[in-house]
Amino acid sequence: MASVSPSSQLNKAVRQHYMSLPQEGKCQVTYIWIDGTGEGLRNKTRTLNSEPKSVDDIPEWNFDGSSTYQAEGSNSDMYLIPVCMFRDPFTLDPNKLVLCEVLKYNRLPAETNHRASCKKAMDQVAEHKIWFGMEQEYTLFGTDGRPYSWPRNGYPEPQGQYYCSVGANNAYGRDIVECHYKACLYAGVKICGSNAEVMPSQWEFQVGPCEGINMGDHLWVARFLLHRVCEDFGVVATLDPKPVTGNWNGAGCHTNVSTKKMREEGGLQYIEQAIEKLGKKHAEHIRVYDPREGNDNMRRLTGLHETSSINDFSAGVANRGASIRVPRQVGNDKRGYFEDRRPAANCDPYVVTRGHCSHLSAGFR
Ligand code: ADP
Ligand code: MN
Ligand code: MN
Ligand code: MN
Repeated sequence: MASVSPSSQLNKAVRQHYMSLPQEGKCQVTYIWIDGTGEGLRNKTRTLNSEPKSVDDIPEWNFDGSSTYQAEGSNSDMYLIPVCMFRDPFTLDPNKLVLCEVLKYNRLPAETNHRASCKKAMDQVAEHKIWFGMEQEYTLFGTDGRPYSWPRNGYPEPQGQYYCSVGANNAYGRDIVECHYKACLYAGVKICGSNAEVMPSQWEFQVGPCEGINMGDHLWVARFLLHRVCEDFGVVATLDPKPVTGNWNGAGCHTNVSTKKMREEGGLQYIEQAIEKLGKKHAEHIRVYDPREGNDNMRRLTGLHETSSINDFSAGVANRGASIRVPRQVGNDKRGYFEDRRPAANCDPYVVTRGHCSHLSAGFR
């Protein structure tokens, strides 16, 4: 029996009774924010007297930053600024989830609030209509710290049979994938697909295409929903880029990028231009493609297991061992998008997309 949390074993029929009680015209709004680690998500809930019609109807709030690695105890109040509203797939309509930016006591962005600068960068290049699609890989773990459903002693069969697989001997934890997918659709998160990954208990979902700042907003909320769904099932989703050492694939967050010009006829030349410029900033980008200045990604980008080496920049059509891959279809059509395969699974999508848009803007003005 795989290890699951005690909370997941609470009587769900009892829960259902309370969840079906009418809520007398009130609206529960759950505020979500990124904590001081730059990876962790926090949330808390309040009652509003009526259903907000848009994010503008949701008031600012605050929290104790000294408990989230975000402030000293002596000056610990942080502001929560609602930026993006979703439906709540757990407590259902009319209740909401709202993603927030965090501001410090002086109303400047908190250290791990990269949305503020990302938004500025996106506004500057708005005319290019930059689209992103991100492929979020993650790995399920039991509460015992072992990959979910792996044998207690030893290892599963070597990789080969798991990617896009079906069957109890191949696909571990599909309930989570399917429930998360539905939760995203209900919430209004722009999820566009999912698949089982190369390592057993490793999965991926894709979000996109999203224009500009929406990419970061939707991916962060998709991550929140993933952690929340996993909590219900009593397992843990980790975004560690190399959760199991050895001959097992790591986890990335491939980032697909296109501008209006790239998507139009003959757009391939603009893709090639962008790739050339990206090559010049390789080291700079690697430093911000995980929360630990490349140290997390160093375990993953080895040049093996469908990755490029962290030290080299490379690009190629249909090449999954390159830093940048141009999908075969894009090579054929001579227009479309390219894929940056370097971001780690635990990257901040605001930082990654900011890098791409500020970079592209220079060449297209
Ligand atoms: P892969 O073959 O790399 O596994 P996936 O199907 O997992 O590809 O993911 C493809 C991603 O590309 C999706 O997130 C999708 O939203 C994104 N995408 C598709 N078209 C575009 C485009 N024109 N610009 C940016 N992203 C795009
Ligand atoms: Mn994919
Ligand atoms: Mn993948
Ligand atoms: Mn990919």
